[in-house]
Amino acid sequence: MAKTYSIAIDGPAGAGKSTIAKRLAKELGYYYVDTGAIYRTVAYFLDLLGVSPKDVDGVERYIDELTINIEYDEEGLQHMIMNGMDVTNDIRTQDISQKASLVSAHGVVRGVLLDMQRDVAKAHNVIMDGRDIGTVVLPKADVKIFLTASAEVRARRRTDELLAKGHKANFDQILKEIQQRDYQDTHRELAPLKMARDSIKVDTSDLDIDGVVEAILKIVSEKIPV
Ligand code: C5P
Repeated sequence: MAKTYSIAIDGPAGAGKSTIAKRLAKELGYYYVDTGAIYRTVAYFLDLLGVSPKDVDGVERYIDELTINIEYDEEGLQHMIMNGMDVTNDIRTQDISQKASLVSAHGVVRGVLLDMQRDVAKAHNVIMDGRDIGTVVLPKADVKIFLTASAEVRARRRTDELLAKGHKANFDQILKEIQQRDYQDTHRELAPLKMARDSIKVDTSDLDIDGVVEAILKIVSEKIPV
């Protein structure tokens, strides 16, 4: 099988991973894999069944009844297919964000999703974003980036994003949720969010999107033939 290249982008919620990774994927002609969306799909599925994301037995009992497919549309956008149903938009709520963070702490969930993520990277050149891509999923990724920003900056961005879409948004509430998710994601026992030793940290607090994309493309071009 031909060598495939992989770029891992990890970091906390709201650091701009998906916006940046999408842009990079377009520039480089790579597949963009948003792994958070896969955890969100699991959380959404369990939620529909009324299973609490903290219920270990419930999660273990029902996970086998879930089939997840990742599909891409003509624009290269990732769609999440849950047992044949496109749930791409349904998984983007604050409620599912919190539940995905809890669901992702279960070993059985991480095990199932690990193979799925590695299979995509074996078959295609990928830019994969998440929390444990550089540390666990693709420890041999060609480039590893740790994208971060202060919790306040991330909460401000998320608030502005929601307001721009005409939704209600309360900065203090969003900041609290981001801090809670940071805590859960960094303190869990399995594959906690942390910087891989060979990862390059990019702080986006004072950079705009173009600035971040440019900085990362420069790093990529030093490690991968582009
Ligand atoms: O990135 P996103 O906010 O969509 O991720 C939702 C949740 O999924 C995160 O808070 C995290 O708990 C979990 N996740 C994970 N490992 C990944 C990607 C996401 O545990 N690789």
